[in-house]
Amino acid sequence: MEVRLILGDQLNEEHTWFIEPNNHVCYVMFEMRQETDYVRHHVQKIVAFFAAMRTFARKLEEDGHTVIYYTIDDPNNTHNLTKNIEKVLELLGATSFAYQLPDEFRLDKQLKEFSNSLDIKVEACDTEHFLTSRTELAEFYEGKKALVMEFFYRYMRKKHQYLMVDGQPEGGSWNYDKFNRNTWKGGAIPPPYQPDKALAKEIYNQVAAAKIDTIGTFDPTSFLFAVSREESLKQLDYFCDHLLQDFGTYQDAMHQDETNLFHARISFSLNVKLISPGEVIDRAIATYRNRETISLSQIEGFVRQILGWREYIRGLYWKEMPKYKQKNELNNFGKLPDFYWTGKTNMNCLKTSITNSLENAYAHHIQRLMITGNFALLLQTHPDEVDQWYLGIYADAVEWVQLPNTRGMSQYADGGILATKPYVSSGSYVNKMSNYCSNCSYDKKKRTGENACPFNSLYWNFLDDKREELKGNNRMGMMYNLLGKIKPEELAEIKARAYEIIENPDAF
Ligand code: FAD
Ligand code: SF4
Repeated sequence: MEVRLILGDQLNEEHTWFIEPNNHVCYVMFEMRQETDYVRHHVQKIVAFFAAMRTFARKLEEDGHTVIYYTIDDPNNTHNLTKNIEKVLELLGATSFAYQLPDEFRLDKQLKEFSNSLDIKVEACDTEHFLTSRTELAEFYEGKKALVMEFFYRYMRKKHQYLMVDGQPEGGSWNYDKFNRNTWKGGAIPPPYQPDKALAKEIYNQVAAAKIDTIGTFDPTSFLFAVSREESLKQLDYFCDHLLQDFGTYQDAMHQDETNLFHARISFSLNVKLISPGEVIDRAIATYRNRETISLSQIEGFVRQILGWREYIRGLYWKEMPKYKQKNELNNFGKLPDFYWTGKTNMNCLKTSITNSLENAYAHHIQRLMITGNFALLLQTHPDEVDQWYLGIYADAVEWVQLPNTRGMSQYADGGILATKPYVSSGSYVNKMSNYCSNCSYDKKKRTGENACPFNSLYWNFLDDKREELKGNNRMGMMYNLLGKIKPEELAEIKARAYEIIENPDAF
């Protein structure tokens, strides 16, 4: 008998493992405290993972496969991965053990060490999900200093022949990013796809009974995670049919009353592998070919996220781990404010983005990058604190994708491996890209004084404090020129205001 392990983010029905049932194979899946407790997760994240795992196990059984599944309240469950596997191996008298390579370094190490301790045959295979191997990005950038995503993206376009005509990018340009920066001025947006929630409601009660320490709230109306392959494909089709036509244009926009705007909401399904990046791109491109309403800049903007960013981030994680997790090149040591767990702040952009996150276990990219991430960096928060928050609060957060996005893109803690400069801004960027400032008690234009927007003083103070760390960065030259034009007396006032905020952010 062979025991095959399926982790919670390895729900790939299309994997060659499942081509046909085999009486000599038993699949094992476990809901464990090891996974629910290594960081404080959003309750919807735990519910979504368990619901997707249970749906997957049921489907395997319906297809004739044998499955042993330990629920969170199963008395057989030791809540430790390797102890659970040992238990099943012994129970079945297994002669071999197989697993799919985990995407997370922590689990990869745990399973490697465990496998070495076994005296039966062990096999580790690919998850058959990504469009690149673990090492492909490292090989692509071998010998190069800067890991600019755009070059990897072009390589991927050519390799997979997406949006290519006779060896050239369709339309003549690789990238239509300049068309992707519009603000949303209001109007009707198709409501988000509502997947089936019956199982999620049931599991929520079990998670509550298990007394797992969680963040956020569970309300079935705001639970938008598809937990089966069938529902994930419907959610993807809904996006292609109704939202893709405006995706690129409003990709960077934020709005007080619109949590989802034109975003796909498919990251959970993708990250647990209910759907694959290849099929997401194929379906989106097929819709583009059939609809005149979808322009090249919309589809290119979407393909870039999946084919470019997602694969790039994954390759970077495997290239740089485990040292990446320790990086703190800007020497930041602060704490995150308490309001990151409550949303109780007078700063409207933060209040809205954090409340959205607590209610939905979701925020779109620019809320993550330019509101919560930007503010954490301006406060000079330790990247460990920031990582823990992002890893916990979003249902799509799995370390391989969360860590480079947070520590690299958002906190610049890797010193510029991923981003060419820190993503920091004053209130003027927030005002340009959203309507948050017009609903805020702070004055977006003021740098000092009681009602001055906190982002403004923090921004100039950050530049001043990080002169040493950023002095070699040519892309910051213009910002430092502007900083140089602020009179010393005014800069002193700005810094005094900034330190008032840094010392007690929860008062703002
Ligand atoms: P859309 O905006 O509709 O984009 C479509 C898809 O593109 C996404 O589903 C995602 O699979 C992919 N994509 C877009 N940008 C990225 C990116 N930068 N990295 C990887 N994939 C991308 N994404 C996660 O999946 N998990 C995380 O834990 C995560 N943490 C993040 C933390 C920070 C600080 C930041 C700035 C970004 C993070 N992202 C993360 C990337 C991005 O914000 C989410 O993928 C996106 O918001 C998911 O929502 P969506 O499906 O509606 O995406
Ligand atoms: Fe945020 Fe400042 Fe705008 Fe208020 S004024 S919403 S704090 S950027």
